[in-house]
Amino acid sequence: MNDFYKNTWTRRDFIKTLSLALAALPMRPVLSFPQAGTAKFFSRQKTERPKKVIVIGAGLAGLTAAYELTKAGHDVIILEARNRAGGRVFTVREFADGLHAECGAEWIEHTHDYLFRYIEEFGLSLYRGRFVDTEDEGLQFSPRARQAHEKLEGTAKEINPFEHQMPSRPELDKLSFYEFLKQNEAPAEMIEQMQRSVSALMAINIESISALHLLNEYALPESRASFRIAGGNDQLPKTLAAQLRERIYYSRPAMKIAHDATGVRVTFLENGLQQTINGERLVIAAPFTCVRKIEIAPALSPEKMKAIAALNYGQILKAPLQFRERFWLKQAGEPRKSLRDMIGSVYEASGGQAGPRGLLVAYIPDKSGMAMGSIPPEQRLEKILAKVSEIHPEAPRYYEGGYVKWWQEDPWAGGTYAYFRPGEITTVRTNIARPEGRIHFAGEHTAGWQGYMNGAVESGHRVAEEIHAAPA
Ligand SMILES: Cc1cc2nc3c(=O)[nH]c(=O)nc-3n(C[C@H](O)[C@H](O)[C@H](O)COP(=O)(O)OP(=O)(O)OC[C@H]3O[C@@H](n4cnc5c(N)ncnc54)[C@H](O)[C@@H]3O)c2cc1C
Repeated sequence: MNDFYKNTWTRRDFIKTLSLALAALPMRPVLSFPQAGTAKFFSRQKTERPKKVIVIGAGLAGLTAAYELTKAGHDVIILEARNRAGGRVFTVREFADGLHAECGAEWIEHTHDYLFRYIEEFGLSLYRGRFVDTEDEGLQFSPRARQAHEKLEGTAKEINPFEHQMPSRPELDKLSFYEFLKQNEAPAEMIEQMQRSVSALMAINIESISALHLLNEYALPESRASFRIAGGNDQLPKTLAAQLRERIYYSRPAMKIAHDATGVRVTFLENGLQQTINGERLVIAAPFTCVRKIEIAPALSPEKMKAIAALNYGQILKAPLQFRERFWLKQAGEPRKSLRDMIGSVYEASGGQAGPRGLLVAYIPDKSGMAMGSIPPEQRLEKILAKVSEIHPEAPRYYEGGYVKWWQEDPWAGGTYAYFRPGEITTVRTNIARPEGRIHFAGEHTAGWQGYMNGAVESGHRVAEEIHAAPA
């Protein structure tokens, strides 16, 4: 069985397209749930009383929170553990002829309203990656599968993915997605397809993920077009960082947080020495995998500490491979592989970039069976090339090297993006975004657009609003 699939999909498209296949509709109607008007942009009104704000993390969440607060007149500094901004937006440029590839976040959907605001504001250009088409992949499904799909779609229409404190249909959180499908009498072939698609894109079994999490994903506004930022997605964090320049302190990981009713104090590492700074408000915009390692005194509420300790992250590896020619372009009419075989994917990363050299990316969820952790780093590329060669036998002839990014090993990420096990949407997620005293929480894991760059930015706007409106 082949482990790779030649086209690329975002996880929401994938689930939706699969559903379309099940429904055998020519075009799935856009869900009635909030299309326009979901974005709650920060107002940028100037403050009369500037607050001293410390932000931990210069990913898109921390950067946008800092940028917005600075625009409103607040005094902000960012502590960032890495020597660059962008976090999980990571454009790798270690290739010949100026080629680059996205090793972190890749696709911007046309529905990503928060991102589009900055793309417009900073005059960034987009490269259209692919159209989210709705062809049925040649799958044939029974009337029972269609019925189950209709129930799934009907349930998703009742869900507001942006409501964290009072999740809609909370009883569905008790179920795994597998149990939900079973309850809705989904036939075996549909369950099998869902299992493949979710584990391929999120590296999670449908038995281990809350039904409500996937239904939230399903209820997000549907995209009709996907883009990358021309020149690399890192153009966005780089541009934001350039606006904040001297406010960002790189290679300064936060280690301890002390807080009381009057302010916050953050201890961080500076060239091996501990330093402290004081502020009036703190934004924690780091993944909870990293927040777990920060000492917080006094401890936050038991619910928040539990959320910080419990939150799970998916595991995905991305490996762009460089080839001296884009040999795959000569393979006209290459048919799509059946979704049945998909537990990973291979797709071109160099679209829109000048040739003749090109890059293919292998996108491998940890559940692919490749068990990257047990393979020494120097042998990984060889193993990945061998896999790519199974669908591109000519690959070794053109191969010139590559780059492997496995997010689980990254100490400042610890995974790809958060997901919720059964029971966690109503117990863990409800406590993630809520501020505690003078501490505010941003990051994709806190957002309605959870797992997306757009979610990181959404959370940046939310915390900017919280801090701006908070008493001195
Ligand atoms: C492989 C992969 C594929 C993805 N694909 C897509 C996609 O196609 N489309 C999409 O929209 N999204 C995608 N995402 C998700 C997207 O990357 C994230 O949702 C988003 O970038 C998260 O931003 P953030 O600011 O919340 O967190 P991060 O980007 O992780 O930023 C957090 C920052 O905090 C820093 N930090 C951590 N600990 C500390 C500390 N103790 N002190 C100081 N700093 C600290 C980190 O170094 C980091 O810079 C993908 C992610 C991955 C990994």
